Amino acid sequence: MRLLIIEDEEQLLDALKRGLMKCGYAVDTAEDGITGSEMAYQNEYDVIILDLNLPGKDGIEVLKDIRARSMTTKVLILSARSSVPDKIKGLDLGANDYLGKPFDFLELEARIRNLIRRDFVQQSTVIHLQNLTLDTAQKSAAVNGHKLDLQPKEYAILEYLALHSGTVISAEELIEHIWDEEADMFSMSVKVHISNLRKKISAYCDSSLIVTVRGEGYMIAKGDSHE
Ligand code: CA
Repeated sequence: MRLLIIEDEEQLLDALKRGLMKCGYAVDTAEDGITGSEMAYQNEYDVIILDLNLPGKDGIEVLKDIRARSMTTKVLILSARSSVPDKIKGLDLGANDYLGKPFDFLELEARIRNLIRRDFVQQSTVIHLQNLTLDTAQKSAAVNGHKLDLQPKEYAILEYLALHSGTVISAEELIEHIWDEEADMFSMSVKVHISNLRKKISAYCDSSLIVTVRGEGYMIAKGDSHE
């Protein structure tokens, strides 16, 4: 999943970026409202973490921009302006969540996970699909009860396909949601990651969990869960 953090306090921005990348997210950053607004327009982010007191363009204006383009991107406001009227204003303007500063990183991460889950019927942190069990809080995956030793990007691909099970996902969409803008990505690299992922899965499972749909992309079929 790909995040954008719009925050002008450099130290906080760096800490957030590092922490969230460690959690397996692709993370882009902007230090002012104008850049943030443009980036939100150019890329498909799963969640935008938005500060309100920003140079260039206030966070509330950035939020209005995002919503005026009727974008469905989730927005979490992270601000020192955390009075009840501030929160009401932000939520009424289309923010999906609001967290006051100072905050606890673990709470922020849990809220991001929750926002991502809201897109899907998935309400639990654990997903069961065919022989696969995915723990989105632990960022771990198991096949037929055997834990997979996955690289962060491999886990991210598997999670994205699992959350969209039954839908064919193109290599381009995977790149858009799993790599940040500094990554120099080709669809070939997606192929390599998928191939490695399949090798790891096939150690514990005969059937092909990740299906290739020629010329379109990849899919995990819904199928029965083996709970
Ligand atoms: Ca600020």
